[in-house]
Amino acid sequence: MVVVVGSGIIGSWIAYLLAKTGHEVYVIEKSENAGDGISGRNSGVLHSGIYYDSNSLKSKMCFRGYELAIPFFERNHIPFSICGKVITTGISETLTEEKEKQEEIEKLFENGKRLGIPNLELKSNPGKHWRHVLGNTALWIPKTGIVDVPIYLKVLWQLGEESGVKILKNRKVIREDDKVFALDLRSNEREELEADVFINSSGLYSDELCQSDAIQFKYEIRPNKGEYYRLKKQLPYETLIYPLPMKTSTALGVHYTFHLGGDAYAGPNSNWAESKEDYKMQTPRSIYFESLKKILDFYEEEDLSEGYVGLRPRLFKNGEALKDFLIHKESNWIHLLGIESPGLTSSPAIAEEVVRMVG
Ligand SMILES: Cc1cc2nc3c(=O)[nH]c(=O)nc-3n(C[C@H](O)[C@H](O)[C@H](O)COP(=O)(O)OP(=O)(O)OC[C@H]3O[C@@H](n4cnc5c(N)ncnc54)[C@H](O)[C@@H]3O)c2cc1C
Repeated sequence: MVVVVGSGIIGSWIAYLLAKTGHEVYVIEKSENAGDGISGRNSGVLHSGIYYDSNSLKSKMCFRGYELAIPFFERNHIPFSICGKVITTGISETLTEEKEKQEEIEKLFENGKRLGIPNLELKSNPGKHWRHVLGNTALWIPKTGIVDVPIYLKVLWQLGEESGVKILKNRKVIREDDKVFALDLRSNEREELEADVFINSSGLYSDELCQSDAIQFKYEIRPNKGEYYRLKKQLPYETLIYPLPMKTSTALGVHYTFHLGGDAYAGPNSNWAESKEDYKMQTPRSIYFESLKKILDFYEEEDLSEGYVGLRPRLFKNGEALKDFLIHKESNWIHLLGIESPGLTSSPAIAEEVVRMVG
């Protein structure tokens, strides 16, 4: 029997694939509204994998995840669109900055070609190709897409249940000494859990279940806040518009994105959150707008209204930031740590890997 902790996109994929391969699977979820965690608060982008080193887990999982996801969406009628993405150098303050950005975008282009990402193009004067896009040079990535995340999650839960997965909500998994408990958050009663394998896919809280290793390595998840502002209108074409990625963080920079339902957003930025439940908007609109207007000349500050907040599960080991995903086995536990972006894209591949490890 396998117990999966958390019913976000990662736990749900793992549970579904394990049940399909004949395992008895329980998913234990602390929230009443499954999908409330990181998986319900992101950009919904299917990433091409251009940003990552080829030998990183992020790179491998992102490519394989994309490959598995598209036929899955088609088979299960999950709305998605391969709308492509533009990364622009945007407006620079100085000539030195402009030169650095030019070098950076060329490096990204070379990395993409090396990784085999198809049909990449570097274009000068991006505003001529995509109206309102600012900057001297842009990288066009036609492979990038978006997916309707709420429907994606619902389909996975349904397929999981049809394959025999049992989902128990309002129960929090706790580790104490060598024992594992499920605490019923309504009655406050706790029940000891026994399983052949426990999968820790609890997102922001995954460090708390990585208990016995804490003596040797201290894994810590620090929540990093990404705020989204809603935009009053959509661009006249359906393409994602990004700046170059941030140098000081794994965040991709404030970009233009849209949901398949029709809403357009700017987001997400990157700031440390006060806690793992700190979902309040904190960046004033005027400051936020400064980032957006470096890549697009389509909006006025008044077009932005408060949207939503997502928290990135930034992984630290003994106080040092790790950049990659970590899939880590410890006795009968498999821990999934630091599954930040491109975790949504990578989720079916991560699940495939975990199923291999369970055997
Ligand atoms: C701002 C932002 C934008 C992003 N954009 C993209 C993108 O465009 N494309 C992309 O590929 N990726 C993106 N990502 C990354 C992606 O969203 C995540 O990698 C993915 O959603 C992580 O899913 P998860 O299942 O690990 O976590 P979650 O969705 O948080 O699921 C974990 C679940 O575990 C439950 N839980 C926690 N502790 C316990 C416990 N002790 N007992 C029981 N249940 C528990 C929680 O309630 C939660 O439901 C983004 C992330 C952020 C933050």
